[in-house]
Amino acid sequence: MNVNDLQLVKADSLILRATCLAITPEMCMPVLHPYYASIADRMVEIVRESNALGLAAPQIGIPIRMIVVHLKSVALVMVNPEIDAIFGEMEKGNESCLSLPGVLVPVTRNEGINVRFITRDGFEKATTVTRLAARVVMHEIDHLDGVLITDHE
Ligand SMILES: [Zn+2]
Repeated sequence: MNVNDLQLVKADSLILRATCLAITPEMCMPVLHPYYASIADRMVEIVRESNALGLAAPQIGIPIRMIVVHLKSVALVMVNPEIDAIFGEMEKGNESCLSLPGVLVPVTRNEGINVRFITRDGFEKATTVTRLAARVVMHEIDHLDGVLITDHE
């Protein structure tokens, strides 16, 4: 398979309902395996072309735990993202999804999270994100567990 052929899967694709697999430590540290790196790069390309806030690997048909968060023109790849803590008030915000064109759903989420992940370059990282960034990360991690915004209605 040529990763450049990877495209968004259709809204009714079963892969959007899959529980995705973590990339094994040997495959992402100390460097991300070239196969996964090429998928990450293709995801960045798609998220930029679509001018979307984020993208998860199952949305392009690959059931692995990898997401891209695209905020302020920066596209950050997160491999095996894990939420360590959730904090703050619950906030309602409208969310859309590249996999569900034309759908807008009010989703209630916490204000912030601590998230741990491995970077595109194989570094372990932990960070705190709030508000929109937290919302995007939570939305994308939902995808890794087969959850879509319409499930929050
Ligand atoms: Zn989505």
